[in-house]
Amino acid sequence: MTLPRLAARLIPVLLMAVLAGCALPVPTPEPAPLPPISPEVQAKAERAVDQLVSVARRMEPVIEAECRARSRGRNCNYRLVVDDRVDLPPNAFQTEDLRGRPVIGVTLAMIAEVHSADELAFVLGHEAAHHIAGHISSRERDAQEGAQILAKMVRAQGADPRTVAEARKAGAEMGSRLFAKNYELEADRLGTIITWDAGYDPLKRLRFSAVADFSSSSQIL
Ligand SMILES: [Zn+2]
Repeated sequence: MTLPRLAARLIPVLLMAVLAGCALPVPTPEPAPLPPISPEVQAKAERAVDQLVSVARRMEPVIEAECRARSRGRNCNYRLVVDDRVDLPPNAFQTEDLRGRPVIGVTLAMIAEVHSADELAFVLGHEAAHHIAGHISSRERDAQEGAQILAKMVRAQGADPRTVAEARKAGAEMGSRLFAKNYELEADRLGTIITWDAGYDPLKRLRFSAVADFSSSSQIL
């Protein structure tokens, strides 16, 4: 799991904006300077970044070991990214880049609002568990099956091509949601194991269990 150097340097600045409750200026040829940040907010932002780096380093070997133990031939070289859009809520996600490398992402608000390293560790463990369990492909398969079933049903009733297309779209949506709760519970279970094995307390995750997840099928790269 790597946190690019440039991102590591930018995150404190962006976090300050989040913690200060303000929006970053829209990029212009001569961008306006960031509003002044109080020493207290700056210190909080620096602590949040230190915590992210520390937790990521400690979780990395455990996540990779769990990935290699539970999956065959999968890419277990995780990459951690930070979504630096300041208007996003506390959130996290997992996906794969175009080369199939697993990616775990967190928003700035998530980094800023977690109360402890234990919470942040569980968020990373939960997202890694989605990847280890193959939930992206599972949800894609669910969506395809849902689309086929609903399209077949309306086609049997003599529906026109436009209605069939709409049914396919609705079926995909229904299919992708059908087992979503099961996947969340599975990710919670495995995420709890990973978090514990890394030396964190998974019981302190509860505050974020409701927001966990996220957009596990999204592509960010
Ligand atoms: Zn999830």
